[in-house]
Amino acid sequence: MSKINYKNGIKFKCQSSGNCCISRGSYGFVYLSKNDLTRFAKHFNLPIEHFKKKYCQTTDGYIHLAEKNSLNGKCLFLKNYKCTVYESRPSQCRTWPFWNENMNAKTWNEDISVNCPGIGKGKKISSKLIKKYLKEDYDNEISILNGYANPET
Ligand code: SF4
Repeated sequence: MSKINYKNGIKFKCQSSGNCCISRGSYGFVYLSKNDLTRFAKHFNLPIEHFKKKYCQTTDGYIHLAEKNSLNGKCLFLKNYKCTVYESRPSQCRTWPFWNENMNAKTWNEDISVNCPGIGKGKKISSKLIKKYLKEDYDNEISILNGYANPET
């Protein structure tokens, strides 16, 4: 699969469509690493266990934000197309759309660019910053896969 060339940067500016905050197929769950849980617990001034009970579900041993049928796939923190926990949003949300799995031509051109109206808008995000997002995405995924998000499993 050919990689996206981002050495000259990529234009991206969030348009508040909310599209990346609504489940669709493989982009369904917002998985949470230990860092994400710690940040959220601080945001809500709750012990991590309370936060997990109130706002999370576990699927196949991995913790993610709870999905409620009544919200039709919308994140429980999305209100009027705005993230109500923006400052404390998880790494998965912070690094969008610069995920390692998105940086190939097929996914970028046929899925990400089609579903995210922020691609191609605003100022260029530099290659240095894109690399930073890709590293954060990688480290976050490793943390989740290593089970740090779910110490009891
Ligand atoms: S936490 Fe915020 S940015 Fe992340 S999916 Fe939910 S509403 Fe969207």
